[in-house]
Amino acid sequence: MPTSISSPADSPGAVVTRFAPSPTGELHLGNARTALFNLLLARHGGGRFLLRIEDTDAERSHEAHTQELMADLRWLGIDWDAGPDREDAQGPYRQSRRAGLYADYFARLEQAGTAYPCYCTALELELARRAQRAAGRPPRYAGTCRGLTPAERASRSAEGRPASLRFRVPAGERLTFTDFVHGPQSFLTDDIGDFVVRRADGTAAFFFSNAIDDATMGVRQVLRGEDHLTNTPRQLLILAALALPAPVYGHVALIVGADGTPLSKRHGAVSVRAYRERGYLPQAIVNHLFRLGHASPLHGLLGLDEMAAGFDTHHLGRSPAHFDHQQLTAWQKEAVHRLDAAAAQAWLAAYLPTDLAPGARTAFIEAVRPNLVLPEDVRAWVEIVFGAPPALTPEAEALVRSAGPGYFAAAAAAAARDATDLAGIAGAARTATGRRGSELYLPLRMALTGRAHGPELAPLLRVLPIGQAHERLARFA
Ligand code: GLU
Ligand code: ZN
Repeated sequence: MPTSISSPADSPGAVVTRFAPSPTGELHLGNARTALFNLLLARHGGGRFLLRIEDTDAERSHEAHTQELMADLRWLGIDWDAGPDREDAQGPYRQSRRAGLYADYFARLEQAGTAYPCYCTALELELARRAQRAAGRPPRYAGTCRGLTPAERASRSAEGRPASLRFRVPAGERLTFTDFVHGPQSFLTDDIGDFVVRRADGTAAFFFSNAIDDATMGVRQVLRGEDHLTNTPRQLLILAALALPAPVYGHVALIVGADGTPLSKRHGAVSVRAYRERGYLPQAIVNHLFRLGHASPLHGLLGLDEMAAGFDTHHLGRSPAHFDHQQLTAWQKEAVHRLDAAAAQAWLAAYLPTDLAPGARTAFIEAVRPNLVLPEDVRAWVEIVFGAPPALTPEAEALVRSAGPGYFAAAAAAAARDATDLAGIAGAARTATGRRGSELYLPLRMALTGRAHGPELAPLLRVLPIGQAHERLARFA
C-alpha cells in the first residue's frame, strides 16, 4: 500500500500529464482549464502531454463529441503529443479500445482474490443504502457478496444472475498520500466500501480504467478537478494491488460563478464552443483560464510558451476560483488589440460590407478596433460610418445645436477643403466660437457619429465616404 507520494516538484524524472475528458458533451471552461494546466505542466517540465478519451460509457459517449473536443482544444492552442488521432505504443487513446487490457487486469485481481463478483441487483443495493442512511451511517457496500463460497458463486452464475466485479478494500488500514495542491491526505480504508471496478455489462468503471490507463500510459502527474480528490484513495488501492506505478495527484479547486456556486449553464455560456461562436479569441480565453485558480505574478497577455515557463503547481489554488466576465472582457480587448491586420479582417469578415476596397477596409478596421469586444460590435460602426448621417436623440441634438450654427458653418467649410483634416476642422470651429477641449470636440463627434463616445475622430474622418463629413456637419449650420 502506498504510504507517501511526493509532489512533482520533488520527484525527479519525466513529466507526463494527460487530459482525460469523457466525450459526453461540449468542452466546458472548467475542463478547458484542466487541459490547459496539464499542457503547461508538461511543457514547463519538458515532458509529454497526452489526450485520452474516456468513453467507456457507450450510451453517453459520442464520436462527434470527441471530434469537437479535439477541435476546440486545438482552437485554444492546446495540442497533445499523443492521443486518439496521434497514436503511439502506449495507446490506444480511446478507452473503448482498451477492453482487452482491462480484461487482463480484471483477471489478475480476481485471481489474487482482490476482487470478487457481486450479484446484488440495483434494487438490493438501493435498499441496503436506504437502511444504512436510516441508521445514520454513510451508505457503502454492505459486503453481501464478499464472502461467497465458490459454490455459492457458481450457483448464482448458473441462475444467470449478472455480476459486477468489486474491489475488496482491505479493512482497518490508513491510506495516506500527498496531493500536490492540497498537501497531505489521509483516508481510512474502513470508510471506503468495496467498490465496482467492472460493471455488470462488462465495461470498466471510471476508478479502474482511469487508474490503469494512467499507469500503463506512463502518466506521472495527474492534475484534475477537486471533485476527484475522494476518488484518489480507491485508485491508489487498485494500482497498489496490481503493483502498478502510481502517479502523483493534484486536485485544483473548481471554478465558480459570481454567486459562488460551481460554474454551470445558470451562469450563461460555459462551453468553449459558445464563446468561440460569439467571437471570443482563444488568447483571451486561455489568459483568463491561466489565472483561474493559479496565482501568477506574470502580467499582460501571455502566449502559451510564456505561460508554460511561468506555470507553477505551488501556485494552484485550494479555494474556488471565480470566473469573472469582466476579466475575460479585458483579456478579449487586449487580444483584439494584438490581432494582426489579416486576423482582424478574418475575425470581422461576416459583418463587413463586401464592397469595400481593401485599403478602405483596413483603415475602417483600424479606426474602430479599439471599440470592439466582439465582432458583432462592428455592426453599429459599419452603419454609422457607411450608412446615412446618423440621427440624434433630442438631447443630443440640443447639445449639438448649443454649439451654434457658426460653429458648424466653419467646421463644414473646413471639411469641404479637407475632410480628413481633424485639426483644420476643429481649428475652424474654435476660431468661430472660442470653444476648447470637450466643448469643442463633443459637438463634432456627435454630429459626425450620432454618439458621445467612440473611436478617435481623426482615423474615423479618414474612413467616412467622400462628402459625408461635410454633409453631416453642414446639417447643423
Ligand atoms: N473522465 C474524467 C472526467 O472527465 C477524468 C478525470 C481525471 O482527470 O482523472 O472527469
Ligand atoms: Zn453483492
